Amino acid sequence: DARPIRRALLSVSDKEGLVDLGRALAARGVELLSTGGTAHSLRQAGLEVVDVAEVTGFPEMMDGRVKTLHPKVHGGLLALRDNDEHVAAMTEHGIVEIDLLVVNLYPFEATVAKGADYETCIENIDIGGPAMIRAAAKNHAYVTVVVDVEDYEKLLGDMDQHDGATCPKFRKKLAQIAYARTAAYDAAVSTWMAQVIGVDTPRRRAVAGTLAQTMRYGENPHQKAAFYRDGSSRPGVATAVQHQGKELSYNNINDTDAAFELVAEFDPADGPACAIIKHANPCGVARGATLAEAYSRAFDCDRTSAFGGIIALNQPLDGPTAEKIAEIFTEVVIAPDADEAAKRVFEAKKNLRLLTTGGLPDPLAAATTIRQVSGGYLVQDKDNGHITAEDLKVVTKRAPTEAELRDLLFAWKVAKHVKSNAIVYVKDAATVGVGAGQMSRVDSTRIAARKSHDMAEVLGLSAPLTQGSVVASDAFFPFPDGLLTAAEAGATAVIQPGGSMRDDKVIAAADEAGIAMVFSGMRHFRH
Ligand code: 5GP
Repeated sequence: DARPIRRALLSVSDKEGLVDLGRALAARGVELLSTGGTAHSLRQAGLEVVDVAEVTGFPEMMDGRVKTLHPKVHGGLLALRDNDEHVAAMTEHGIVEIDLLVVNLYPFEATVAKGADYETCIENIDIGGPAMIRAAAKNHAYVTVVVDVEDYEKLLGDMDQHDGATCPKFRKKLAQIAYARTAAYDAAVSTWMAQVIGVDTPRRRAVAGTLAQTMRYGENPHQKAAFYRDGSSRPGVATAVQHQGKELSYNNINDTDAAFELVAEFDPADGPACAIIKHANPCGVARGATLAEAYSRAFDCDRTSAFGGIIALNQPLDGPTAEKIAEIFTEVVIAPDADEAAKRVFEAKKNLRLLTTGGLPDPLAAATTIRQVSGGYLVQDKDNGHITAEDLKVVTKRAPTEAELRDLLFAWKVAKHVKSNAIVYVKDAATVGVGAGQMSRVDSTRIAARKSHDMAEVLGLSAPLTQGSVVASDAFFPFPDGLLTAAEAGATAVIQPGGSMRDDKVIAAADEAGIAMVFSGMRHFRH
C-alpha cells in the first residue's frame, strides 16, 4: 500500500550512524533534507543534502531554537496523502511530502547528568524535534519515524523487504517508540525542574497515566500520595467501581491489588476461591464448595491477622458470603460482581468498601512492573510464570499422591504472591500456615508452623492443621533444615524450584522423613 520512501528529513544531535544511514538512503534514491549540523556532517561525507532552510524559506534562527517549526515541514509530515483537501493544500502552498523522519533530540538528560548550569539545561530542551516526532508518529499511516540509532538497521531492512517502502506494522511500532521517547523526554524536563524548584509533590510529578486520586496521605501520614491510572482496561483495583465507603487509602489500594491478583490465580470454573490480605501478604487463601465456605476456610488460616484485612473473591459476592464477612471488621472487599442481597448486607457497614470489577485479570497476561530506586527505576516483566503438573519433577523415592499434588499446586500459586522468603502450608485447598518476608527460609517455615499451632488452639483442634499438609517454598531450600522444620510441623509433601548446590542433601533428608518432593524448576521471589 505505502509508497516507497522518496524524501527523508534527518535532524540528529547524536550523529552516530548518521553518515552510514544517509549513504544507505541516498543509495536507495531517497532525497535528504537536513538541519544545520546534520546537513554539515552529511555533506562532509560527500552526500547531497537539501537544507531545511531552503525548504522553509527561513534561515535557522535564535540559536537554533527555530529551525524546523514551519508549515512546510509540518505540512509535509502531517498531510494525509489520500485526502484531496490535504493534497490540494500541499500543492497550493508548495509543500512537499516528507516520508521519513529521523530525529534524535538535544541531549537534555545527558546535560543535566553532567551537572550543567540552569541556562545550559534550558537551552538543551529540544522544541522542534519533539514537534516533528509527534507529527510524524501521528501520521504513521504514511510516515516512518525513527528516533533511536538502534533502529537504523531495522529501517533499512524493512525498506529492502518492501521495495523501498516500509510496512504499516513497522511504522506503527516506530510511532509507539516515538511517543515513548517524547513522553520520557518531557518527564525528564519536568523532573529536573521539580528538583530545581524544590517542590515535588506526588500530584505534580510526571508520571505516565492520568491522576485518579490525591490521597490524604501515603504509606504513612507524613507522606503525600497520589494514585494514577495507566489507561489499562484490565479488571483490577484501578478500574473497579466502588459501591460504598470512604475513599481508598494508599495502603488499601496496594493491598487490594495484591488480594485481587492472587485470587485471580484461581479459575472460577474450578469453583469459588477467597484470599485475605494484610500488608500485601495473604493471611488466608482457600477454595470452598460455596463462596461463603471459601471465605470461612481462608479466615480460619489466621483469624487474628484477618481482622481489618482486605478480601478478594474470584466469583460474584453473594448474600451469605457478605453476612459472614460482615461478622468482623474488614477494610475492603473486591469481587467481579456483587448481587443485591450482598449489597444490602454491606450497606449497614459504613467503613467497609465494596469494589466490583466486572471480571478477573488474566494472571498469564504480559505486563511490566516498575520500582523506584534512588536515582532510577527498575523495570521488569510482571511475574506471570505458570506451571502445571506436567512441569513437576518428582525427586524423592515417594511421589506425591493425587490429593497432595493438588494441594502442592495450590500452595505454589499462593507462594508466588507471598513476600520472600515465602513458605506456604496447604491442606485440602486451604492455606493453613503462611510464613512471609523473613530473611531466613527456616524462620519463614517456623513462623508459619507456629501460627498454625496458635490457630489450632483458637479453633479448639487437637492438632495443628499443618499435620498432613503440604508445603511450598518460593525458592530452593539451601539446606535440609527448612525442609526438616516443615516435616516436624507435619508436612508430607514439598514443592520447591530445586537448583541448590545441596539439592542431594535436601532430597536425602526428604527421603529419610518419608516426604514426597517435587521440583517446579521456577522461582517466585517477590519483594
Ligand atoms: P543540527 O545538529 O542538525 O543542527 O540539529 C539537530 C537537532 O535539532 C536535533 O536534535 C533536532 O531535534 C533539533 N531541532 C530540529 N528542529 C528544531 C527546532 O525547530 N527547534 C529546536 N529547538 N530544535 C530543533
